[in-house]
Amino acid sequence: MHYDYDLFVIGAGSGGVRASRMSASYGARVAVAESTYLGGTCVNVGCVPKKLFVYGSHFAEEFEDARGFGWNTERPGFDWPRLRDNKTREIERLNGIYENLLTGAGVHIKRGRAELVDAERVRVDDQVFTTRNILIATGSWPMVPDIPGRELAITSNEAFYLERFPERVVIVGGGYIAVEFAGIFAGLGARTTLVYRGPLFLRGFDDEVRAFVAQELRKKHIDLRFSTEVDAIETHDGARRVRLGDGEHVDTDLVLYATGRLPNTAGLGLEQAGVALNARGGVVVDDFYRSSVPNIHAIGDVIDRHQLTPVAIAEGMCIANNLFTDNPPRKVDYGLIPTAVFCQPNIGTVGLTEAEARARFGDVDVYATEFRPMKHTLSGRDERTFMKLLVNPADQKVVGAHMVGPEAGEIIQGIGVALTAGATKADFDRTIGIHPTAAEEFVTMRQPRAQS
Ligand code: FAD
Ligand code: NDP
Repeated sequence: MHYDYDLFVIGAGSGGVRASRMSASYGARVAVAESTYLGGTCVNVGCVPKKLFVYGSHFAEEFEDARGFGWNTERPGFDWPRLRDNKTREIERLNGIYENLLTGAGVHIKRGRAELVDAERVRVDDQVFTTRNILIATGSWPMVPDIPGRELAITSNEAFYLERFPERVVIVGGGYIAVEFAGIFAGLGARTTLVYRGPLFLRGFDDEVRAFVAQELRKKHIDLRFSTEVDAIETHDGARRVRLGDGEHVDTDLVLYATGRLPNTAGLGLEQAGVALNARGGVVVDDFYRSSVPNIHAIGDVIDRHQLTPVAIAEGMCIANNLFTDNPPRKVDYGLIPTAVFCQPNIGTVGLTEAEARARFGDVDVYATEFRPMKHTLSGRDERTFMKLLVNPADQKVVGAHMVGPEAGEIIQGIGVALTAGATKADFDRTIGIHPTAAEEFVTMRQPRAQS
């Protein structure tokens, strides 16, 4: 049978773009359908605009800190529309770059919403294309729990395009997005409350890191309400009233829900094509990203493993390799994924938490340090940095590295290389430090904590 394409990709986000370009570079005839924006979540309503806002929000502290260094500054006014619109212009520039990257690689872009007709045919609006392989790379979408007044809340999607900057904001959730946006809103001048249902946010991160971040955010006057559920959201006095499970309420101008993201599979025609989905709607795939239908594959957020751009990209590289080269099939090693939360100060982390390491190895050598960053000796700011290395005593391998502090994401990326290469504590010890930096503490921690 003649097919229009060797690969039809649905979704031009982080994973879909990489899989399309790489497959085309191996000689495959590739089309990619995109319903909304080239570059997907990361470029348009995720990593990139978020990081630009984080930069923007940090200036408030920089102006304050400058005084200790001799600068006589008053805190200047903040112009939200300028930040928002400059950000949007940059995103539009990136959209153009993504278009050029795809067309330059010979990939056909189909603008519109795609759905499967069957396992070998994809419909985009009123056009149907035949294809030997299909790749589902449709990402994920914010989930807002079903509480009264949920329509009065926004999600991160809308936070990037707010008409007016709020004086007060309530953020619901305790994961990456909630914590990052708490820092953004507080830094830009909003009175910020974060409501989380559990006793301590950032579940899944090292416990000491979680407690340390809570302490630092409280110093920045972010009102953290843990072990608190939201019962309802109401309109009140032209604003919002968030009713809490403990009987209290918070009045606010904006309610942002950041309670997780579900795989984007509704209405794609997957069930009719025989593709198995998990309970959250994620496409079930094997180690090599094959779904229950042999020629239909899936990568990225839609497979519900790790919702991170570099992971989606790595999976996209594997798919292109596996479908269109004679190389041995490849899969992503999920064991050591460095990650950062761009709260202020940042979290950077790679490898196991202390609890995970203890569960796996029994005893663990813990090296930890906490200090005031040198900059704040003159700025006078009461902000501290925390670092922690976890070592398996049996073979001395470093199995986890954690940091809370300025540029922790930048620093942990390099430590991730060391852990991926299997570095031992002795390798860290014989590495010469770079002085004076915070990062050098990772190679100068000599004394493990006493075992408890
Ligand atoms: P996406 O990038 O979401 O792409 C999916 C694409 O498919 C979208 O463009 C969508 O429009 C399209 N699509 C969906 N259905 C159809 C259809 N039927 N037809 C045609 N097109 C369709 N990750 C990090 O690593 N670092 C960060 O700092 C970071 N920050 C984030 C901040 C926020 C606020 C959010 C929401 C996410 C963030 N992430 C971050 C996560 C990251 O954005 C995602 O993990 C990543 O974008 C997933 O890539 P993907 O290719 O699976 O999906
Ligand atoms: P997360 O999964 O990180 O966090 C969801 C939070 O919402 C958790 O605290 C969870 O609580 C809570 N929650 C879930 N359901 C409910 C509910 N019904 N009621 C109240 N609270 C609830 O999701 P996010 O939305 O923050 O982000 C989605 C993903 O995007 C992240 O997991 C991450 O992979 C990615 N991302 C990455 C970033 C980065 O790399 N810097 C930045 C932003 C996003 P509990 O823990 O108790 O389950």
